[in-house]
Amino acid sequence: MEFIDTHTHLYLPEFDADRPDVVARAVGAGAVGLLLPGLDEASLPPALAMCRCWPGLCRPMLGLHPTELPPDPMAALDRLERLLVPGHPFVAIGEVGIDLYWDTSRREEQLAVFRRQVAWAAAWQLPLAIHSRAAHAELIDVLAPWRHRLAGGVFHCFGGTADEARELLGFPGFVLGIGGVVTFKKSALPEVLAGAVPLERIVVETDAPYLAPTPHRGRRNESAYVPLVLERLAEVYGCPAGEVARVTTRTARAVFRL
Ligand SMILES: [Zn+2]
Repeated sequence: MEFIDTHTHLYLPEFDADRPDVVARAVGAGAVGLLLPGLDEASLPPALAMCRCWPGLCRPMLGLHPTELPPDPMAALDRLERLLVPGHPFVAIGEVGIDLYWDTSRREEQLAVFRRQVAWAAAWQLPLAIHSRAAHAELIDVLAPWRHRLAGGVFHCFGGTADEARELLGFPGFVLGIGGVVTFKKSALPEVLAGAVPLERIVVETDAPYLAPTPHRGRRNESAYVPLVLERLAEVYGCPAGEVARVTTRTARAVFRL
């Protein structure tokens, strides 16, 4: 069962002790792509090192995460933007977005940082990997003017309502990123997906080391666990897991132009 983990932070220190084993397990489980979203400037060198180590399998994204803003985020964006040159290795602008769940004190800065990175995605016709938490209305506000100028992307770790799913899928070329949460016992996500989201509009992800699926919940997540998500999605959509893998892999290749 081949799959692409469209959102995995395997470059983080949580994997320093056993990274080659983690990647080998992922490949053994069927991974044909491991997409590495950026978090801040410091996350970039280890992500790029992984892409050199496992070319064709690991692919980097470029982005400044809304909860990882440095004291002067615009200066950081200036430096990141200089990496966008012809022939750059990035498959997406990500992970970028808005997170007002724990902390709203830097709301305006978050919005400005997100807007600027959305403009990069449009200018370079790169897909976006979007993180949004407790910020659905703000997210729509920022994206709406760009609706027909973006090259699509992923609303990563989608956890909203059916109405929110429909609104997000109104953006052409965008899909929902589905990970371990769909396996959680009390998750409302299976019902939302079955009712409002065609299988063709999702991709799978781990967000490793976070959000491990059942039965690994609460422990370190890794890309080899994606089949647990595929199995759960097979129940949700009433088709074989192999079919879910085939469709979501095709979608991931289309969204990220792999
Ligand atoms: Zn992430």
